[in-house]
This record gives sequence, C-alpha cells and structure tokens, in this order.
Amino acid sequence: GEVAVETDVVVIGGGPGGYAAAIRLGQLGQSVVLIEKEELGGVCLNRGCIPSKALIHAAGEYHKLAGLGKLGIQLPEGEASFHMPKWQTWKASVVNQLSSGVAHLCQANGVTVVKGSATFLSNDRIGVETGGDFETYKFRQAIVATGSRPYIPPFLTPDHQYLLDSTDVLNLQEIPNTLAIIGGGYIGMEMGMAFAKLGTKVTILEAADRILPQTASHLSQEVWKQAKKLGITVKTGTRVETANVANGQVVLELLTPSNVREQISTDKALVTIGRVPNTKDIGLTQAGVMVDERGYIPVDPTCRTSIPHIYAIGDVTPGPALAHRASKQGIVAAEVITGMPSSVDSPYVPYVIFTEPQIAGVGLTREEAEQQGYQVTVASFPYRANGKALSIDEKEGFAEVIVDEKSHLLLGMHVVGADASNLIGEGALALEMAARVEDLALTVHPHPTLSEVWLEAAEAALGHAIHIV
Ligand code: FAD
Repeated sequence: GEVAVETDVVVIGGGPGGYAAAIRLGQLGQSVVLIEKEELGGVCLNRGCIPSKALIHAAGEYHKLAGLGKLGIQLPEGEASFHMPKWQTWKASVVNQLSSGVAHLCQANGVTVVKGSATFLSNDRIGVETGGDFETYKFRQAIVATGSRPYIPPFLTPDHQYLLDSTDVLNLQEIPNTLAIIGGGYIGMEMGMAFAKLGTKVTILEAADRILPQTASHLSQEVWKQAKKLGITVKTGTRVETANVANGQVVLELLTPSNVREQISTDKALVTIGRVPNTKDIGLTQAGVMVDERGYIPVDPTCRTSIPHIYAIGDVTPGPALAHRASKQGIVAAEVITGMPSSVDSPYVPYVIFTEPQIAGVGLTREEAEQQGYQVTVASFPYRANGKALSIDEKEGFAEVIVDEKSHLLLGMHVVGADASNLIGEGALALEMAARVEDLALTVHPHPTLSEVWLEAAEAALGHAIHIV
C-alpha cells in the first residue's frame, strides 16, 4: 500500500481540547499532526460557547434598553429593534477571528493541520479521508479529542428548519415568534432566556421536576424566578412524546405530570436534552482502545486510555462537558507525552451557566460536602447588600461559601448573580491553593466591586460580616 507519513503525535479533533494539546506539543518540540474534519476550534468556538455567548450578550443589551429610563437615559420612542441577520454577520466575524487565531497559533508552533476525517487503522496508524484522497499517518502516540454532538432520540430528529438542534438555533436568520425548548438544562435555559429577551414567546419543556436539574436547587431557583419575569412558560415533569412538522409549525405531543396528553404548536422547537461522545466511527476497536457502555473513553489522571500510548481528552471522556476541562486535559496529555510529570489531579473544575442571573461554582455543594462526611458551615452574602451591585442595578443573587468546620478549608464557592462567570475565577484560585476561609476574609477586595461578595460571605462564615446582620 501507500507510504505512511511518520509523526511523533497525531491529535484527532481540533476543538479546545485538541488544539491546546497540539500547540503545547509543538512548544515541547514534538512533530504533531492535528486532524480536523470541520473547523478549528471545534464545537466551542464554532457552534457552542462563543456563538451562544455572543447571542446572550446581544439579547441582554437589547433587553436592557427597556430598563434604561430609570437611569435617566431616554431613547426615542419605538426606535429600538433587533436585526438578526446583522447579528449573524457580527457573530461570524467573532468566530472567524478566533478560528483564524487558532490556525495562526498552530502554524507558529509547527503544528501540521490536516483537514479530513480520521479513523484508527491499528494502534500505530491512522487513516485520513481528505476530500477524495486517503492518507495514512504512522504515530508514536495519539490523542483522541473528537468531542461530542447533541443527543437526539429518533422521534425528535431535527429537520433543521423547524425542529432544531443547538447549532441550528444559533444560525437562525429570524427571531421566531414562538420557540419550544425540549430540555431545561443549561443550554436550553441559556438559549431560552436569550430568545425571550429578543421578544420570542418561549416554552421550556423539562422532564425533571425543575429546570437546571444538574444544579443545586437554591441556585437554580433564582433563574426560575427570572425566567417567569421574562414571560417564559416553564413546564416541568413534562415529557415530549412526539414531534411533527406540518404547515410550517412544529406540533409537540406532551405527557404532563398528571399523565394528561396535551398538544402544543410552535414556530420552532429546539431539542437540547444532552450530548453524546463522538467515539463510534473512529476505529477505536482497531486501535484496541476501551470504551464504556455509554460510549465514553475512560482515562487515568494523565489522560491515558487502556492503550498507554493513546490518550483521550475533552467531551469524549467521562466528566463534565466543558471547554476549559478539555483544554486542561489537552495540556496535561501533551506534557505527559513528552515525559513531564503532569496530571489532571485537581477536582476544582469551575462551572458557569450563562443564564440570567448567571450561576457559577467550584468545589462541593453543601449536599456533596455533607455526603462526604464533612461538618460544614455555609454562609452567604446577598447582592442587594453590595454597593456595586446596586449601582449597576443588579441586586438579584448571592454568593455562598462552604467551609469545613474542622480545618476552616474552603470546600466550595458558588455564586448566582450578575457576572458570576467572572467572579468564580477567584473561587477556583482559592480552592486550588487550599485557602482557608480566613484567607478569603483577610484578602483586601477592591471597592466598589462585586468581588466584595466573597469577602463578606467569608466574614459571615466567621460570624462577623460588616454589611449584613
Ligand atoms: P469539540 O469541541 O467537540 O471538538 C471536537 C472536534 O473534533 C470537532 O471540531 C470535530 O469536527 C472534530 N472531529 C470529530 N471526529 C473527527 C474525526 N473522525 N476526524 C477529524 N476530526 C473529527 N462549554 C463551556 O465550557 N462553556 C460554555 O459556555 C459552553 N457553552 C456551550 C454552548 C453550546 C450551545 C454547546 C453545544 C456547548 C457548549 N459548551 C460550553 C461545551 C463545549 O463546547 C465543549 O465542552 C467543548 O467544545 C469540548 O471540546 P472538545 O475539544 O472535547 O471537543
């Protein structure tokens, strides 16, 4: 047959896991081939984190216009409108800028980027289909970073025009009048709130008894409250049984908590009920790599699979499907490949939900800490007692610290409220550095900032917050 190109490492998949791994491998002097069948940046950059946050931002700015009057800002009557095609153009420019940035970084670090679809042929060879051609690469080590795709039960197969997946909904050229969202997890709630702010009548259909069922309920409740204020209809305990497209409408048949069948008709419906790893058609059997019963690739803390010279990172591995976890694993795998003593040993992966209000956290919740046998002190501080929060008209929410009574170590930090996504960086650093609650309380926080909610929550845990009784 054909002569294989030899390389130290092949990385399959150019998402936040794969490209970070490839760049670090290049920095460490390895020859590396990065194979991507679509666009560099993966789901996150092209149809996940970045475009969704661009929509949430635009919708948030638009929605805020209605509340500007009380700040003394007067807008000409009836002037504000939202132009979706213009937003699409702006979004594309953001995505392209980032994607070409990744291409540039790969090139600058000597990474060979190959556009094509890769399959393992054996445990040291990989085949790549590149638009008609077939190339083979012989590798010493490999990293699987093929990511995930939406989970779609057969009866909810999107037609991509009316019944949509998360990619389609971010590509809409028009704001729908009505949108039903099947699945009230974080993607469903983020998208639902964004469209509600743009004027869409949104209905959330969630099988569990509450929205954001993966998130602690005292945090998700704040989002539920706000969803109602935005006019979103939330139907919990509700199963979607069938979906049919007819006459430009989606007709959904629902089973309500009282076992009553109900039909709703909507302009568009978004299916967002989970994700599945892309591990089926990539030749893992030929390579001998073990996959669990759900299709995920189990790995050790160095990201090694059952075949020691093949690694797996990101959404294909069990654990939270988050871009920053993928990148961290990618860097660890690259370092381990070059013999460095690296590992993913920190349990402190922060999570962020970009709803309104935002939710973010790191470490244990109260329930998790108690289950693990800790005696905990839990203290919180409300946004409404924070000067900055009031001065930017963001008084909903609170910060919470979970503290081990014995050692005073911080076990968890959670925040729901404006800019929670940025506030949690401090939490991740505190937990990573094994901070005690006193460390947080002793740290001088700038005034007036939202970050003071951490200082005050820590003080509250110690029994002496200044700004609450
Ligand atoms: P991916 O990003 O999925 O990339 C895998 C890449 O591999 C893809 O580009 C794919 O084309 C390529 N590939 C697959 N098979 C092959 C093959 N055989 N050959 C060649 N290439 C192949 N995470 C966050 O942390 N924060 C957020 O705010 C956030 N928001 C999200 C919003 C939405 C709507 C969605 C869908 C996801 C969001 N995520 C978010 C999750 C985040 O996108 C993923 O966790 C992240 O992209 C996983 O990175 P990865 O490198 O594992 O894989």
